[in-house]
Amino acid sequence: MKITVVYDNCSIKQGLKTGWGFSSLIETEDAPPLLFDTGADGATLLYNMKQLGIDPSRIGVIVISHHHGDHTGGLSAILEVNTHAVIYVPSSTVVRLPGRKVIQVSRSVQISETVFSIGELKNMEQSLAIKTVKGILVVTGCSHPGVREILDAASRLGQIYGIIGGFHGFHDFSRLDGLSLICPCHCTQYKSELESLFPEQHLECGAGLELEL
Ligand SMILES: [Zn+2]
Ligand SMILES: [Zn+2]
Repeated sequence: MKITVVYDNCSIKQGLKTGWGFSSLIETEDAPPLLFDTGADGATLLYNMKQLGIDPSRIGVIVISHHHGDHTGGLSAILEVNTHAVIYVPSSTVVRLPGRKVIQVSRSVQISETVFSIGELKNMEQSLAIKTVKGILVVTGCSHPGVREILDAASRLGQIYGIIGGFHGFHDFSRLDGLSLICPCHCTQYKSELESLFPEQHLECGAGLELEL
C-alpha cells in the first residue's frame, strides 16, 4: 500500500502549498484510491493533487475523520469533480449530500480488503487501520479521542506497525514504545519531542510525503 500526504501544515516537497489541515491519499492493490480527510481549502487540495499527479475523479472512497473544518473544508471541491465516491463520516457528523452514498460510522467497519475504520471514538472522530505486510498502519486526523485510545482500538485488528497523522496534544509518549513508524503531522504539538525520543522510528510529515509499505 501507499499513502501520500496531500495537505498538511508543512510541506516536504517543492511546489506544494501548505495550509492548516490534513488530507492523505491511500492506495491499495485491491481497491480504488481512498482519500482520508480533505484539508481546509478545496483550491489548495486540488492544486496539490494536480502537482502530485493524483486524479481526484478516480477516488472511490472518501473518509472524513471528524467534522472540523480543517478536515472537511475541501470536500465540496472534490465532490464537484468526483460524482461517485462513497463517503464515510462519523455518525456524530451531520452531512447533507443529496444523491451521494454516505455511510455513518459508529462501530468499526471494513471499507476494503485491507482498510478498516476503527469506528467513532468519544462520539467524535474515526481513524483508519490499514493492514500491511508489516502490520497495521494507523492513520489519524486530529486524534481528539486520544492517541492511546486510538491505538488500543486499532490493535484489536492486529499488531500495530506505525501511526501517521495529527496527534494533537498527545504527550503520553511511552504508549508509542514498540512501534516501528511514528509520523506526526498537522496539529501535533510535540513534534520535536517525538523526533528526539524516537529518532529511529520518527518520519517527518508534510505535503508530498509518500510512504510505501
Ligand atoms: Zn485538525
Ligand atoms: Zn480537529
